[in-house]
Order: sequence, then structure tokens, then C-alpha cells
Amino acid sequence: MLIKVGLPVDNDRGLRRCCPFCKREFKIVLTEEELKGFAQKGLESFMIEANGESDAGQSEPLQEERTCPYCGQKASVSSWWTQAQVDFFMDIARNMAIKEINKSFKRLERLNRPSSPVKFEAREIKQVEPRVLSEPNDMKVFELPCCDQRIKIKEDWSDKVYCFFCGFPHESEAESN
Ligand SMILES: [Zn+2]
Ligand SMILES: [Zn+2]
Repeated sequence: MLIKVGLPVDNDRGLRRCCPFCKREFKIVLTEEELKGFAQKGLESFMIEANGESDAGQSEPLQEERTCPYCGQKASVSSWWTQAQVDFFMDIARNMAIKEINKSFKRLERLNRPSSPVKFEAREIKQVEPRVLSEPNDMKVFELPCCDQRIKIKEDWSDKVYCFFCGFPHESEAESN
């Protein structure tokens, strides 16, 4: 089952990320292509990524690592979801499950025979209200010439900024205008 999930980005196509170590938030600026790729990804791939944290580490040599711009610690590429994003995926997954259960209850109901003394009555389970994810236009753009990428960091951050992609430490002054 492929369910497409759209993740909100801000006006700079900034996708919010959260460091699993220091819990600080930043954003990666996606290109149009990346954004399209994201929208075409199924929920399942998100779920796998969102759950990837538990078995992240040396056991999975194929897992690429990313670096926190603030604290410089490394974690697998799937470890950077914010709690809100994970909750969002969970809601969608839960609704998918509820839909399936309701469908099979309906199927059972159709098995009822007028002559049968026992009747099965399907009662619909209500779906959860999917929470609304919004993405405010906060944070400042920080250029990463090392990888030809851009991220967004906290407005008041004046310390070193590590490249999310290669881990290269940049002085904050290197920030463009
Ligand atoms: Zn961090
Ligand atoms: Zn880099």
C-alpha cells in the first residue's frame, strides 16, 4: 500500500530537522527536484526512516550519516525527524489501519443471513484527526559551499556551523550577507 505524504516546507523550501543529540532544530533547504521526490515517496519509506533510529549505528554500514550543524555529532540519515513529524506519520499510519479494520468489519456484516439467529453488526472505528503540520518561515539561511547546499539555522546562532552533509566545520562569519 503506497500512501503519499506531503511534508510542509517553508518559503525557502526548508524542511525542519531535529538533532537526536542536542534536540536543536534546523532546516535543510531542498531543491525543487528533491521536494518533488519527497512528495512522491510513500508513507512506508517515511515510516522505515522514522523508525530507523533504534537500530542505527555500526550494525548498518549502508546507513549514511549526517552531522548536526550545532553540536557536530553524527547520526544516521534517518535520525533527524522532529517529534511532530513522527507523530504526523503515526497518525496517518493509524488511520490506514483503522480503515482496514472497518473494511473487514463491513465484510463480516455482509456474511449475516436473515435466517441466522446471530447477527454481526459493524460499528465504525473513528479515524484520528490528523494533526496539521505547518512550517513557519523562521531561521536564517546558511550556505554550505563545501557541499553546494544550504541549510537554515537558528537566528541567534553565532558559533561554528557543521555541514549537515559532510561535517565540515564552518565559522559562523562565513555566512553570506
Ligand atoms: Zn546536535
Ligand atoms: Zn559539506
